[in-house]
Amino acid sequence: MFVLLEQLRRARRTAALDRSGAIGSCALRHVDCGSCNACEHELTATLGPAYDLQRLGLDLVASPRHADVLLVTGPVTTRMVEPLRAAYAAMPEPRLVAALGDCPLGVGVVADRGALAGPLERILHVDIRIPGCPPTPAEITEALADALARRA
Ligand code: SF4
Repeated sequence: MFVLLEQLRRARRTAALDRSGAIGSCALRHVDCGSCNACEHELTATLGPAYDLQRLGLDLVASPRHADVLLVTGPVTTRMVEPLRAAYAAMPEPRLVAALGDCPLGVGVVADRGALAGPLERILHVDIRIPGCPPTPAEITEALADALARRA
C-alpha cells in the first residue's frame, strides 16, 4: 500500500512539476480593492491542480515585504487607497504592479465612477494588465508567466 502511494506521489510530482520552461520565481501579493470577488475566484483557481501557478515559479505571499508583484483586484475604493499605497511602499525594489480584471483597469461594469479613487493607474503605475470580467484562470496564468519572463 505504501509502495503504491509512493509511486503515485512520484508520478504526480513528475507530471505536475514540469519546470522545463521555468525561468525563476516571482512572489505575488494580492490586494483586494473592492472587487465583487469573481476575480478572486479565478485567481484561486490558478493555484489549483489544473493550472498550478507554483509550477511556473509564481506564488501568492502573505506580506508585501516578500513580494515582487502587487496584484490588485477591484476598482480601488477611496478607503483602499492608503492600504494600497502602504503595501506598495513595503515592497522591495524592483517591484511591479499588476491590474487583475477590468475594474482596476477602469473599464467594465464599474468603470470610473465618481465615488471611486480608481482606476488603479491614477494611484500607481501599472506594469501588467490582465483584462476581463473576470479574466479566466488561463488568461491570468499566461499574463503572469509573461511578466515573469520579462523580468528574467
Ligand atoms: S473585473 Fe468584473 S469580476 Fe473582476 S472584480 Fe470587477 S466586476 Fe468583479
